[in-house]
Amino acid sequence: MLNVPPPAFPAPRSQQRAAAAAGVAGGRSKVPLKPGRSLMDWIRLTKSGKDLAGLKGRLIEVTEDELAKHNKKEDCWICIRGLVYNVTPYMEYHPGGEDELMKAAGMDGTDLFDQVHRWVNYESMLKECLVGRIALKPIAVPKETSISEKKKQLNGMLPEKKLLGASAKDLTPSYDWFQTDGLITIVLYTKQKDMNTELVIADCQDKRLRGEIIMNDHSYVLEVDLDHAVEEDFVVNIAEKIGKVEIILKKKDNIHWKMLGQPLESHNTFIKCKNRGLFYRKCKLVSKTEVTHDTKLFRFLLPKSTHLQVPTGQHVYLKQIIAGTEVVKPYTPVLPFLPLDFQETSCHDGANIYLMIKIYSCGLFTQALDHLRIGDYISISNPEGNFKKSQVQALEDLFLLAAGTGFTPMVKVLNFVLTEVSSLRTAKLIFFNKTEDDILWRNQLEQLALRDERFEVQFVLSEPTKDWVGKQGRISSSLLSGFMKRSRKDSKVLICICGPTAFTEQGVQCLKDLGYSQEEMHAFTA
Ligand code: FAD
Ligand code: NAP
Repeated sequence: MLNVPPPAFPAPRSQQRAAAAAGVAGGRSKVPLKPGRSLMDWIRLTKSGKDLAGLKGRLIEVTEDELAKHNKKEDCWICIRGLVYNVTPYMEYHPGGEDELMKAAGMDGTDLFDQVHRWVNYESMLKECLVGRIALKPIAVPKETSISEKKKQLNGMLPEKKLLGASAKDLTPSYDWFQTDGLITIVLYTKQKDMNTELVIADCQDKRLRGEIIMNDHSYVLEVDLDHAVEEDFVVNIAEKIGKVEIILKKKDNIHWKMLGQPLESHNTFIKCKNRGLFYRKCKLVSKTEVTHDTKLFRFLLPKSTHLQVPTGQHVYLKQIIAGTEVVKPYTPVLPFLPLDFQETSCHDGANIYLMIKIYSCGLFTQALDHLRIGDYISISNPEGNFKKSQVQALEDLFLLAAGTGFTPMVKVLNFVLTEVSSLRTAKLIFFNKTEDDILWRNQLEQLALRDERFEVQFVLSEPTKDWVGKQGRISSSLLSGFMKRSRKDSKVLICICGPTAFTEQGVQCLKDLGYSQEEMHAFTA
């Protein structure tokens, strides 16, 4: 594979500005597409039978030199993970704009792609543009792992290669397993003290077991095709203080297992989270309720054979096949309602994922989502996101600046600070919407403000009716300075901001103008 230095692919400038200001890495900026150039239009074109690769159906082996020749808009090839695509026909359909695509013209675009679109299934989106494979330079082939070595791995001994270098070796988790007549217990030793349930994701589909442990920005995966069948439900126990995680499986048949199973592709790997592919499981739609005229609360049930809790401030990806193409979009789980009484925690049992989603009348994904029937299934990924609970540790004042569905990450953040952060003095939501009818959970927010004196909500409308007596306009420094008062001088403050990209960028700029530092802001982006 070609190696492209990261500086060759800087994030788009608008995104860099917001990211630099808010201390956020990654993110995506969109450019307006011409009419007739939506994702649906692209899918239609790929189904039209047109020769998009330009090779009359042939697949070829492409040398680096050949790839480099195709570096113009009207003749642009890009290599992603060893496959070469002719992206010229896709130029006008690319949501990030032609210039962004051209940064990888005639080169390996894998790094750029991973930085910005890691979750997009390009194999499906660009399959009609496939030119062929990149010609590999001869490299020394590593000796194949012997069966006895593989067995050793499955008995809990990690291979020492391909990890993180000498110092990281000490941090690498290890595992062991044992059995009784009815149970298989896998014990993972994370060597991390503050382990908690959000850091452990486990799925067992048929005989395939996948356990993932998140450790800062790295993840450890155990992935095995089990020796024998197990029951659907299993138990995960976490000894938080010593960082020990147990996955207890119930044997389907009362027989002695000779081995845990055969290792699968990602088994025993400890790598950066951003280099890990997204893992999906099928979740059942169990209810759909109206929140406003265009926004609904979807409740999805995780399979019994999944252990997953989406951490505060993180999002998941939903995947659907639309017109034969895999389409993926991010959504931020919320709670089923704003807890007005903080004893009512039983509803967040971890078995359900609640998503508050605005249905756009011409939206590709949300229209398909809205057409799901109760009982239908959809694929939901592992969580991602860079919000850390440590950002609200010892916090005194929290300001939440939300626009439209940018409210969704604020729900769990608000719940967390009001329940867990004892130093908190004030939490204030400034909620920007077009009209009164667009305000999400208005009643609940007003109830919460009445019940909890630390919480205050301020609605700002950009298209109010003449009866609206509240604030109106768009986000600006003067509007924010009027609302954002600290409980005391030099209090520990955090400002979270989320909404349309341009709203977030403008908000971050306003906060900088008002003298807030990068550490005092968190912008939610993709
Ligand atoms: P598209 O087919 O992409 O667009 C069709 C039309 O819909 C556009 O022309 C435009 O008019 C409108 N539209 C589409 N996307 C947007 C947009 N982002 N902003 C304004 N108008 C738009 N959405 C939620 O409803 N709830 C969430 O919890 C949520 N969480 C998100 C988390 C992250 C990290 C990110 C990056 C986005 C999140 N979104 C959320 C937005 C979501 O991912 C989709 O962009 C949105 O659902 C529209 O998808 P679509 O395919 O229906 O629209
Ligand atoms: P919307 O209804 O179109 O807009 C909500 C408010 O934001 C309106 O008052 C609107 O004012 C204002 N606004 C829009 N663009 C603005 C800009 N450039 N500058 C200042 N104010 C602006 O919003 P929506 O349709 O719900 O969209 C919500 C957005 O949040 C989506 O883009 C979604 O992708 C994003 N989101 C992101 C995350 C995440 O974690 N990253 C999570 C959830 C949602 P006007 O009427 O004047 O336009």
